[in-house]
This record gives sequence, C-alpha cells and structure tokens, in this order.
Amino acid sequence: MKVLVPVKRVVDPNVKIRVKAGGEGVELANVKMSMNPFCEIAVEEAIRLKEKGKASEVVVVSVGPAQAQETLRTGLAMGADRAILVNVEGAVEPLAVAKVLKGVVEAEAADLVILGKQAIDDDCNQTGQMLAALLGWSQATFASKIELGDGKAVVEREVDGGLQSIEVTLPTVVTADLRLNEPRFASLPNIMKAKKKPLEEKSAADYGVSVAPRLKVLATEEPGTRKAGIKVASPAELIDKLRNEARVI
Ligand code: AMP
Repeated sequence: MKVLVPVKRVVDPNVKIRVKAGGEGVELANVKMSMNPFCEIAVEEAIRLKEKGKASEVVVVSVGPAQAQETLRTGLAMGADRAILVNVEGAVEPLAVAKVLKGVVEAEAADLVILGKQAIDDDCNQTGQMLAALLGWSQATFASKIELGDGKAVVEREVDGGLQSIEVTLPTVVTADLRLNEPRFASLPNIMKAKKKPLEEKSAADYGVSVAPRLKVLATEEPGTRKAGIKVASPAELIDKLRNEARVI
C-alpha cells in the first residue's frame, strides 16, 4: 500500500504573527517557516504504518515555492521514502491544492492519503474533504486512531462531545487530528540521510491544473487587545455582573 502525505509549509507555530500594514494578509518576509503541525502528525502516522509493515512506501508532497523543499526534507528525515514538490509561487487555495493532489494520487497510484486536518495559517480545513470528493473516494476526517484492515480501515474520529468510529473502504482520504500520535523528532543521521533521498520537481501544469486564485482577501485584522479585568467584592456582585452586564447566565 502506497501512502501519500501532503505537507504544507506554514509560519512556524511559535512565531508571533503580524498583519501586513495594508491588511492584505500576514507578514511572511523573514519569518521562520515550518511544516504545518497537523502535517507532521500525518507523516508520523504514515511512517508508523510502514514500520508495522502495513504500508510499502511513504511519499510526501508539497504544493508551494522552492523553499517548500525544506519542509519535504523534514518529512524525509522523519522517515518518508520520497518527495514531490509541485512548484507554485504565491498563495494556493485549497481547491487548487486538492486538484493538484488528485493528479499526484493518480500518477502515483496511491491507496491512502493522510493529510493534516487543517493548515494553521489559513485554517481552511478543506483540502482533504475536497480531495476525497474529486477522487470519488471515502473520507475519514479528524482521525485520532487508524486501524488498517483488508480493503478497509476503521477510523476513530474526534467529534463534538466525543469520539466516533467509522469504517471506510479503501482507497481513502484521512485527515489527522491532534491526538492521532506524537510526531518524532528527526535525528541528525536521518537529517543527513534525507539529503540523499529522491525529491522530484513538478509544476501544476504537469497535472493540468490552473492555480489562479478564486478568492480575494478583503481584510485581515489583529485580534483586539484584551481589556483589563475588575475585582468584585462578593459572589453576589459577580453573579449580578454576569447576569446583567455580561448577560452570560
Ligand atoms: P487546509 O485545508 O488548507 O486547512 O489544509 C489541510 C491539509 O491539506 C494540510 O494539513 C495539508 O496536509 C494539506 N495541504 C494544504 N495545503 C497544502 C499545500 N500547499 N501543499 C501540500 N499539502 C497541503
């Protein structure tokens, strides 16, 4: 079983985001970038499937600029076998990414795609769902456990207020939630080895996909600063304020 793991290069989660002066997005110049944390979880899961003998090959793929090679090398250092960079400059919307990924899945004859549940930059949470629809495959989103069986997979999903177990037929698209696993750190020898692993470069046109944007960001704003709190003299005053000022009880 060949597993494809799409990984996105995003602003490092530890970086404090700043909005561009014109409000047309967030500042990306000279900002540390990393693999999207949910994609790390997806890579980890694919590698574990290979270690358990359930997957034969793990291929990481990124749709993005030349610098996304670093993100792919991170995936290779974690243990993926090969990488594909679909070279696209500028922002790519989830629908375009899903169309490109469909092309990659078909060219690679992959049996399972594990994505992150969402990219922490735009918080779209759309790519996996769109990819499953475009491929006509089953999908299991927000996975916290994956058990691969013969021609099927049982996936535990994180839903509001609990967990849901579903059985999906293979091939399938799975999106990884936070509790699926704890991704490993790549060791130095593996980082060195990853430099020699194959990384193929493609373009969106190779898959017949136009990545022209369909959406326009109208405004981006920093969250408002938190107002200072107040001290209340008694529980009765607190209840009064919650009921009559905040109107939350
Ligand atoms: P999103 O739908 O943008 O929140 O992203 C969900 C998941 O789709 C990510 O965690 C990645 O696995 C995948 N994905 C999104 N954008 C890209 C991209 N440009 N290249 C590769 N994978 C992507």
